[in-house]
Amino acid sequence: MSVLSNRVLTMAASATLAMSKRSQEMQAQGIDVINLSIGEPDFNTPEVIKEAGIAAIKNNFTHYPPVPGYMDLRQAICQKLKRDNGVDFEPSQIIVSNGGKHALINVLLAMINPGDEVIIPAPYWVSYPEMVKFVEGKPVEVRATIESDFKITPAQLEAAITPKTKLLIFNSPSNPTGMVYTKAELQALADVLKKHPNVYILADEIYELITFDCPFESFAQFSELKDRMIIMNGMSKGFAMTGWRMGYIAAPAEIAAACNKVQGQMTSAASCIAQKASVAAMQQDPKQSADLKNMVASFKKRRDLVREGLQTVPGFKVNLPTGAFYIFPDVSALFGKKYGKYTINSGDDMAEFLLDEAHVALVGGNSFGDSNSIRISYATSEEKLKESIRRIKEAVAKLA
Ligand code: PMP
Ligand code: GLU
Repeated sequence: MSVLSNRVLTMAASATLAMSKRSQEMQAQGIDVINLSIGEPDFNTPEVIKEAGIAAIKNNFTHYPPVPGYMDLRQAICQKLKRDNGVDFEPSQIIVSNGGKHALINVLLAMINPGDEVIIPAPYWVSYPEMVKFVEGKPVEVRATIESDFKITPAQLEAAITPKTKLLIFNSPSNPTGMVYTKAELQALADVLKKHPNVYILADEIYELITFDCPFESFAQFSELKDRMIIMNGMSKGFAMTGWRMGYIAAPAEIAAACNKVQGQMTSAASCIAQKASVAAMQQDPKQSADLKNMVASFKKRRDLVREGLQTVPGFKVNLPTGAFYIFPDVSALFGKKYGKYTINSGDDMAEFLLDEAHVALVGGNSFGDSNSIRISYATSEEKLKESIRRIKEAVAKLA
């Protein structure tokens, strides 16, 4: 009998974190690896937010905060939701957690019974199915490919809903594809959901602030869905605060109260310092913030650079991502090709080959639910991006 639980034995390790660790280990051995595997802004946290964190320590905000978060932070989150998304929430509907990941697992622990079905459009972020399985729910994948810009259709959603469907996990802008659903596309999916009043929507809006010429749209705008909408968001991406570990949900009161109970027994409140810094983050109006505008402008420039570069790699098929900082090339045209000990039969094979032969770390698509593709995070300097394209091209040219 294993010392470990079946729950953990059957869980896959996070592929994004694993690849990032491998590239760091190679770097520590003196190998010049370019790491395009981790989804993390390379910018620093804006000064005004850091100052608020420092002030929190100086002002002795060093004791246990209330489990769901300080009232001023929850109020600032409600104001943000009103200002940016036009939706009304009360502070009692907000639960602040240790990052978006923690917020997501709280919701699943609070809502999912064994056998409940959770619809997950694929390609998806690696952690969704593993989290759903961890709480004994059943992930139901709905597959989209590059031909449909990695977006699911209303007919696909309709076909996936059964009497056991409890939740849809929806992520736009998407990790790993960078795609952003338009208002019309969202409306068409909302029309399906309106017919199924027992299905809740967990909207992961963590890349909300990173879109290029394509406005972010939330399911929360459809008032018929508001009572079964759980918005999850966080500070990691839009405010370059990955290490502060700050995420939150805005949910129907009953679900928020349940998450509060779970969090009260498992972890208590998130860090007092990070919470106070996050008040300053929430007060940033994205329409005014120079920090945010500069960050998004850089990401857009890098998106163009990477996309144009990848279009010149024979066998790589790319579309035009309109948000986040990922691009998800389909490399299936190269399947069957070989070089030395490598045979490319999946995106994961391509990622291994490129790590060894090009010293470029990226993540194979298998753990995102798409074995034809690879995920590139372009949250790094233009110089490194240009060099990685050069290396990828050189390595791919060796495949025959
Ligand atoms: N959702 C998505 C789609 C993500 O890419 C991430 C980043 N890892 C998260 C949630 C969680 O982010 P964090 O825990 O850093 O807030
Ligand atoms: N969201 C990022 C990524 O997908 C960070 C790593 C993680 O938490 O999975 O790379």
